[in-house]
Amino acid sequence: NGKHHDRDKGLNVQVLLRCRPLSDEEIRANTPMVITCNEIRREVSASLSIANKQIDRTFTFDKVFGPSSKQKELYNQAISPVVNEVLEGYNCTIFAYGQTGTGKTYTMEGGRITRNGEFPSDAGVIPRAVKQIFDMLEMQNTDYSMKVTFLELYNEDLTDLLAPEDVKCSDDKSKKPIALMEDGKGGVFVRGLEEEIVCSANEIYKILDRGSSKRRTAETLLNKQSSRSHSIFSITIHMKECTPEGEELIKCGKLNLVDLAGSENVMRSGAREGRAREAGEINKSLLTLGRVINALVEHSGHIPYRESKLTRLLRDSLGGKTRTCIIATISPAINCLEESLSTLEYAHRAK
Ligand code: ADP
Ligand code: MG
Repeated sequence: NGKHHDRDKGLNVQVLLRCRPLSDEEIRANTPMVITCNEIRREVSASLSIANKQIDRTFTFDKVFGPSSKQKELYNQAISPVVNEVLEGYNCTIFAYGQTGTGKTYTMEGGRITRNGEFPSDAGVIPRAVKQIFDMLEMQNTDYSMKVTFLELYNEDLTDLLAPEDVKCSDDKSKKPIALMEDGKGGVFVRGLEEEIVCSANEIYKILDRGSSKRRTAETLLNKQSSRSHSIFSITIHMKECTPEGEELIKCGKLNLVDLAGSENVMRSGAREGRAREAGEINKSLLTLGRVINALVEHSGHIPYRESKLTRLLRDSLGGKTRTCIIATISPAINCLEESLSTLEYAHRAK
């Protein structure tokens, strides 16, 4: 098949599918499961057979992680190789895509790291990636400098989750939108963005905590905002390298870790709920991301980066000498079947 052939020639979008287990409540309520995962065949099937409804569809992905898969397995098998590429000087992006409640934040963040840097077994992709990066840099005894940024994108408005609290304002002024600017050379930069220089994994864990708690506060204040916002955590590393001839080189790698807005907003009509603008704008970033990835996969000449802030922001990390990994998350429960099918289709199209 043509696409597989392309992939072997270095197509750099990898799509993983993860299905969460039933929750305790779902188990208590005897919720039927309609999803089966075959990790060896890398297949996910959605099947339902009731009175007048027959659904039986199977999708193949680069990797499949079933309900009993562990954070560590997913990381070691799928993410660790991507992080190695960052240290080789690639720009890499890992997306979590799926319906709200299917495990995007669990997969990306997972359990909290303790104050002294101890890992719970359910620690997610972000802390594991941070650990791997520091372990590798230390092992190779590389001279490096590192900075991180943490952004939230809501309604096509950017918020800096690392901006210092504005003590003068008692209202939510610390979450003021910041601007995405063209640099005149085809790139973009974010005006007024806080970049934190970091020297240890522990420092990053603290920064992450600060950013995510800001996101959670906003979530309660603004009625579940986080299910409708994207969060983008980026690590940029400059590494000093010596060629065999003794020449000094600076290698730069970047890792973006993106917890996308709930994908249920993609299909649902915002107008019907009186939230046309919100739903419409989220459509824009999620839909454009899908189009950009499709265009990259199909080697299309025109890549519509400019059509959303998310894709403008990630432009230097999508296409060209980059790696992209999409972790699509679904629920196995019968009541989520429609959304699960739409996620399976979106993720499959990205292949
Ligand atoms: P999302 O970010 O997609 O809205 P969450 O990550 O908040 O979803 O997950 C919803 C709930 O399901 C949380 O309580 C989370 O701990 C649990 N959960 C999600 N995925 C898993 C998994 N793979 N294993 C165990 N629990 C999970
Ligand atoms: Mg979440």
